Amino acid sequence: ARKPIVGGNWKCNPATASSLDELVSNFDGCAQYLDKCDVYVCPSNLHVALVKDSFKPGIKVAPQNCNFTGCGAYTGEMSVDQIKDMGMSTVLIGHSERRGEFGLPTPKESNELMATKLQYILDQGLSCVFCIGEPLPIREKGVDAVLAECANQLEDIVPILKSLEDKSRVVIAYEPVWAIGTGVAATPEQAQETHKGIRDWIAKNVDQTTADEIRIQYGGSANAKNAPELSAFPDIDGFLVGGASLKPEIADIVAAIS
Ligand code: 13P
Repeated sequence: ARKPIVGGNWKCNPATASSLDELVSNFDGCAQYLDKCDVYVCPSNLHVALVKDSFKPGIKVAPQNCNFTGCGAYTGEMSVDQIKDMGMSTVLIGHSERRGEFGLPTPKESNELMATKLQYILDQGLSCVFCIGEPLPIREKGVDAVLAECANQLEDIVPILKSLEDKSRVVIAYEPVWAIGTGVAATPEQAQETHKGIRDWIAKNVDQTTADEIRIQYGGSANAKNAPELSAFPDIDGFLVGGASLKPEIADIVAAIS
């Protein structure tokens, strides 16, 4: 059985370091579910070091991005080596806000670059949350187009997933771009259909073991209200939460899937 996993992505929040204590304490209520559900938090780059030891034991801190290789002349980047050295074991990559779905950054972070990053992260012994998802015009074309886009974003990592022994080290976060920050989450049926489609694609293109074992989180306006219904579906293995991870309701979201 796949252990559920919930992540809180704080994105570029909060504005003041003085509010960090409060945001951290919102996660206190998650600690009691850790035997049933993995929990991680992605603070902003600037705040990672300030909060990484502040959470209840077992709640992981994962940076929101990393570069594709080691240290060096990469202004504005964070390397996996640095993340590892600071005692963190997970990193998030490929968020649609990084891939450029909202127009920034330029140039877009490509599928190819994502594969290079993932390989490097795994080689360094870390785990990875790998984000994918389609923009609205593709969703409007229907589920086949959505799954084709997801496949397109996963294609370059097929060989990496094939050779990965411990499938729990890569978590796929399916985040439809149109659902992010809009208050319009995918319906549970839509999310399940897409997660199942992704899993079937993995079974066909990677292997059945990976399909059975890899965890697929749902992200996009997930909150305490919709989490129970979404959690009931077999291929939804948890959530990647943006806005609601800045509020006490994050504990209710973890409770819903635990
Ligand atoms: P919201 O939960 O605010 O829609 O954000 C989802 C997200 O992008 C998490 O990475």
